[in-house]
Amino acid sequence: MNKDLVGQILDLKRERNAIILAHSYQRDEVQDIADFVGDSLGLSREAAKTDAEVIVFAGVHFMAETAAILNPDKTVLIPDVEAGCSLADTIKAADVQSWKDDNPDGLVVAYVNTSAEVKALSDVCVTSANAVEVVSGLDQNRPIFFVPDMFLGAHVERKTGRKMHLWLGECHVHAGIGEREINSKLSEHADAEFLIHPECSCGSACLYLKPDAKIMSTEGMVRHSQTSDSKEFVVATEVGILHRLQRYSPNKNFFPVKESAVCEYMKMITLEKILDSLVKNQFKVEVSPDIADKARRSLESMIAVG
Ligand code: SF4
Repeated sequence: MNKDLVGQILDLKRERNAIILAHSYQRDEVQDIADFVGDSLGLSREAAKTDAEVIVFAGVHFMAETAAILNPDKTVLIPDVEAGCSLADTIKAADVQSWKDDNPDGLVVAYVNTSAEVKALSDVCVTSANAVEVVSGLDQNRPIFFVPDMFLGAHVERKTGRKMHLWLGECHVHAGIGEREINSKLSEHADAEFLIHPECSCGSACLYLKPDAKIMSTEGMVRHSQTSDSKEFVVATEVGILHRLQRYSPNKNFFPVKESAVCEYMKMITLEKILDSLVKNQFKVEVSPDIADKARRSLESMIAVG
């Protein structure tokens, strides 16, 4: 790691009363300098309670937007404005409004991987860590529109027994992790425990095909691997999580199902861009107050559950 660069970031962070929040799919060196590393739910919670005046968000745009919605009086910076999300981009506010027009008594459940405009039209936001719990608690008599990840939606349907209208969106990284790759990796590590993120394309099928599979959020993986008796784990999600898993369980072995499961948007954030962000106060993430007020309600429901 470049000590000079890291030293400059840490000095500026102190000077500006800034905090660096990093998602678990970030580059190793970015995770290492962050004040907090976590999944979308954990990051939202940290963003909601921080006393820092500046939040540098090492993640993708919808995450920084979420931090801005929860902290209207703070400066939220994303070091690269091009860091988007293929899943969030599959759905627009007009798509949600159209479903609401057809289903006036319906409830919209939005995965946190959505734009502020989509969140503003939603009744509640969820992450993969609390989606099952949130949907379980919703009024049984009202139709539900679950957006935008169809694989997570199918997983929630199976776990809750609740039929929902699913938006057919997917994340290109997780959708590319399928049964063929999983079988191949599991045959190489027969004694390993298998951890899979519900966004993966065969996540739901795994409930039937591999009853031992642990379908869990990235944060669930971190917790489970620390307490499990297993010494080896095969992991199906974006490979950035391996850094954290290994850090918390240094005596255990973790094997990615697919080495090439890399989110290019997450990896756009570098130490150099974080330094630039603090020096130049760029790039500010702002959400218009009317959209932010509506989106905040559904986000606060999400933070309260799970
Ligand atoms: S891994 Fe997929 S869902 Fe996550 S930020 Fe990248 S494109 Fe979006």
